[in-house]
Amino acid sequence: MTHPAPASAALFNRATSVIPGGVNSPVRAFGAVGGTPRFIERADGAVLTDVDGRDYVDLIGSWGPMILGHSHPEVVAAVREAAGRGFSFGTPGEAEVLLSEELVSRVEPVEQVRLVNSGTEATMSAIRLARGFTGRAKIVKFAGCYHGHVDALLAAAGSGLATFSLPDTPGVTGAAAADTLVLPYNDQEALAAAFAEHGADIACVITEASPGNMGVVPPRDGFTQAIRRITQEHGALMVSDEVMTGFRVSEAGWYGYESAREGYPEGPADLFTFGKVMGGGFPAAAFGGRRDVMEFLAPAGPVYQAGTLSGNPVASAAGLATLRLTRELNVYPRLEAAADTLRAAVGEALTGEGIAHRIQSANSMFSVFFTDREVRDFDDAASQDTAAHAAFFQSMLESGIHLPPSAFEAWFLSYAHTDEVLDRIVSALPAAARAAAAAGTTADS
Ligand SMILES: *Cc1c(COP(=O)(O)O)cnc(C)c1O
Repeated sequence: MTHPAPASAALFNRATSVIPGGVNSPVRAFGAVGGTPRFIERADGAVLTDVDGRDYVDLIGSWGPMILGHSHPEVVAAVREAAGRGFSFGTPGEAEVLLSEELVSRVEPVEQVRLVNSGTEATMSAIRLARGFTGRAKIVKFAGCYHGHVDALLAAAGSGLATFSLPDTPGVTGAAAADTLVLPYNDQEALAAAFAEHGADIACVITEASPGNMGVVPPRDGFTQAIRRITQEHGALMVSDEVMTGFRVSEAGWYGYESAREGYPEGPADLFTFGKVMGGGFPAAAFGGRRDVMEFLAPAGPVYQAGTLSGNPVASAAGLATLRLTRELNVYPRLEAAADTLRAAVGEALTGEGIAHRIQSANSMFSVFFTDREVRDFDDAASQDTAAHAAFFQSMLESGIHLPPSAFEAWFLSYAHTDEVLDRIVSALPAAARAAAAAGTTADS
């Protein structure tokens, strides 16, 4: 049976008495996979160490931010240096300018950014700005796309809601959700129909640049461009949510990856949102885009948006050091090679046990679905065998590999996932595949 984790279990018990469900973000509770969530005491490189003193190879990466691995010495030094000069001033400072310049220099259509503290704030503010700029109320989102826990964007969201099979959430009023139109992802006809009916009232379409919160479901050929075309035709804005993909799937995120492959004859999105990697593990996020739209924000324009800790100097220093190191260390090709190795090994192990599966990718970002159909949208993703995933997850954990505790999440690699670390993961796969085969439906059944 599973390794005991008495110190984690004791902390979880205490946590449950003072924190709802014992965690500060639902997916951490292991609800979908069962067992005791590991309470982590420290992390270094690709390894997490829990309070019981056990090591795990980390494939969560704090759900995306830790692209260099944990506690990279140069990032630690940058954080120490910044913290030594004070934590927060409530005045402007240099670090936020440097971080903003780095973002603007990487993503060509982004002319200005506003820094915030979380991806949720970034999408919430981008939606407000789109509504203020267009003077329209309705927004379009896609089922299975997660944009943080913004009221109007929680309808049919992925991530934790998918993990717990929650279609929606109580506490979001009809009024907050009434102006949200939810469409199936990758469905150009549904998009055209929504605009035919509501085109004049739609402020924006928000989409994950390449969805990663229902598992990895990349846009099919022409889908991103179709969103661009139809929003332009109807005077609506396009908001590309790159909180997960930004600065992870390439130096310029999904925008950089897709524009290099396909070009954007119709032009890029009007607004982008960023988070995760750009904070290097600290609370920093941003939204940005076209100058004429961004200048609608206070104090340049009429749309109000603010934050006590926004542009925080320590978080900005961590983010800037992380982003600079991704270039200096040539991180992106390394992530791609590591993803290739791992995808091949996972495929081989699952095929060897006759397990129905699909591995889908957005460049180096990928996820494993326990289903035999192509996953194009949330309904496809939801068709997978979550019992097989849970058994696979538990076996990997037992072998000292910490996957995301949900079948609807990407596996996050980092610069610290060296060949030696990948070998550790690969050697744990056959047992996990056997466990999944014992628990779930096989390709033949
Ligand atoms: C993580 C995520 C968010 C929310 O970011 P938080 O920092 O958790 O608020 C928004 N959009 C996408 C695409 C994400 O992956």
